[in-house]
Amino acid sequence: MAREQDILKRPAPKRPPRLTSRRIGIHTSSAGGVQNAAERAYRLGCNTFQIFSSSPRQWAPYELGEPHCAEMNRLRASYDLKPLVIHTNYLVNLASSNELFLQKSMQAFRGEVERALSLCAEYLVLHPGSFRGSDREQGLLRTAAAIAASTEGLDLDRGGLTILIENTAGAEFSLGGSFEQVAEVLERLRGVVPVAACIDTCHTHVAGYDIVSEEGLYATLQHLDATIGLNHVKVWHCNDAKAARGSKLDRHQHIGKGTIGKETFRILLNDLRLAHAAFIAETPIDLPGDDRRNIDALKKLVG
Ligand SMILES: [Zn+2]
Ligand SMILES: [Zn+2]
Repeated sequence: MAREQDILKRPAPKRPPRLTSRRIGIHTSSAGGVQNAAERAYRLGCNTFQIFSSSPRQWAPYELGEPHCAEMNRLRASYDLKPLVIHTNYLVNLASSNELFLQKSMQAFRGEVERALSLCAEYLVLHPGSFRGSDREQGLLRTAAAIAASTEGLDLDRGGLTILIENTAGAEFSLGGSFEQVAEVLERLRGVVPVAACIDTCHTHVAGYDIVSEEGLYATLQHLDATIGLNHVKVWHCNDAKAARGSKLDRHQHIGKGTIGKETFRILLNDLRLAHAAFIAETPIDLPGDDRRNIDALKKLVG
């Protein structure tokens, strides 16, 4: 990854960035404190954004004090940045058949929910996990049960927080490679804790769904509506793919530069049935400015 000059070290933009009728953003660095992510997202021209509230591949959470949260809320209000999406740490596996690891994951996930609540985030995205050592059905059951158990006593409704189950590339033991699997977890948690879905375009494509041909994309949307329900998809992760359809290889690519292509994103961004959702890129930064270029590429496709 190329070293990029931090946008916060450059002078602030003179004019507010051009926005569209859709909520469009990108996964943003929290370096220097979570509140800095809001300022970065605004300067990149976003009106929504996603962050980690812990190091993505370590157990230690970020230091999150009262002043950080207050500043985050102040910046979000003044820049109209919403929703705030938090992505759960990648180590968390709520489907683990190893009791010790499951306990550790549940403890970490509870911390994720507590931090999301204290940051007033609207959404917390979670991968449904890996069923290695067990079977898929048991895995889905365990994930749903672990979400319920680890959020016990926390008032997500009052905090306005919804947990989003993300579909995955479906490699080997990973859960969530089909819309049905995501729908099953949602079904089991309905009435227990606020849940909905996050659909990742790269994962959908490499899991085998056709979202490239126009006909295929509409059929896939219809299938998504019949299983999860389009109104339950609160966040779209907008990532082009490096790998082929059906390859199960999760490698994100710049918008319009991969095996999906920009027309898919044009259709998704302009479909009125999806207008309630936030569209968030998790694209690579290979060259300085790639984050802004990907946001601009998405914004250009609206309308
Ligand atoms: Zn994603
Ligand atoms: Zn991915």
